[in-house]
Amino acid sequence: MSNFSVFNYPNLGFYGGPMPIEHLLRESVRSLPVYQPGKPIEVVARELGLKPSEIIKLASNENPIGACPAALEAIPRAMKDLWLYPDNSAWQLSGVLAEKLAVKRDQITLGAGSNELFYLLCDLFVESGIEVVMGAQAFISYKIATLLAGGTPVCVPMPDYTHDLDAMREAVTEQTRLVFLPNPNNPTGTRLPAQEVEAFARSLPEHVVFCYDEAYREYDPDPLDVVRLIDEGLPIIATRTFSKIYGLAGLRIGYGISSRDLAARLNSVRPPFNTSSLAQAAAVAALGDEDWVRHSSEANRQGIGQLGAGFDALGLEWVSSTANFVLVRFENSSKVADTLQQTGIIVRPLKGYDLPDHLRISVGTEPMNARLLEALSRLHQ
Ligand SMILES: *Cc1c(COP(=O)(O)O)cnc(C)c1O
Repeated sequence: MSNFSVFNYPNLGFYGGPMPIEHLLRESVRSLPVYQPGKPIEVVARELGLKPSEIIKLASNENPIGACPAALEAIPRAMKDLWLYPDNSAWQLSGVLAEKLAVKRDQITLGAGSNELFYLLCDLFVESGIEVVMGAQAFISYKIATLLAGGTPVCVPMPDYTHDLDAMREAVTEQTRLVFLPNPNNPTGTRLPAQEVEAFARSLPEHVVFCYDEAYREYDPDPLDVVRLIDEGLPIIATRTFSKIYGLAGLRIGYGISSRDLAARLNSVRPPFNTSSLAQAAAVAALGDEDWVRHSSEANRQGIGQLGAGFDALGLEWVSSTANFVLVRFENSSKVADTLQQTGIIVRPLKGYDLPDHLRISVGTEPMNARLLEALSRLHQ
């Protein structure tokens, strides 16, 4: 028997509720903003007493058509090996990626979603006194990862909902180690032309690593050839994901493309077995399904057209989008979000992005978009 007993340690609060932990926390964790995910369908269904099938989720930029069929076929085949740990080097997936991208296998770093790459980058480069430059309305994970690592996010204003690359360049100091740029951006949907991003990448000083987040690359009609810049030796990491156009958000898999040195360092801080064997197998299959990507981006283009026309007809202000969602302005956005949710339509409020008047609405299938527009038109009467 151990000598340890809670009766000897009255401060553990055995009788007074749970032991307080606040004072034990790392400084960087105490005031960390919390990532607000879109509400899951099951949760809203339970809250409203509706069937999950009656609810549509337009809140997390998932592919509304569903998961890539080739990936769905690969998963049962991979299941018999579930008793084994995954291949930590992801030999097969990194090989397929390397061939497709014309890079070396050891230039790839796999993450449990591309989100994990942002945290790994901050693990490598950020600590107290280090600055990380990002847009004020850029994807919020960059800010959270920076703060968690004890660094200082430098949030640069985004006029017209678009990254201001000149201002971002000016925000870089001797203390800057990382710059994040998502293109197209979430949550604004705006896109910068490839030449401007390339000029920006070339303008950065050598002590800065540039993270170019391409979560929505497949929706961009004219994406930057970022591998060419990495080949040239610029300190860039491009991050990509299977969560969006491939429809595999639930599997959690994404990757980074960088120099071998950076990939090796990222792998040195990556938790072992961070991507599952099912995710790796599904990703391999998905990469072979180019029809799916074409079909999904075409459906998305039509969906943006349908939503845009509908928003115009309702006299709503919206931001032109190159991604799979649209930023829309409302007089009373939280009331609109609540009312939509009551009718089983989940959209995303953006208070955490300092866009309190806007909602981000993911593009749905044709009937989903029609149902959303119908619900909005009832609101507007
Ligand atoms: C969705 C998204 C990601 C990727 O998320 P994962 O599911 O973690 O791969 C990355 N960046 C942006 C801007 C996104 O919107």
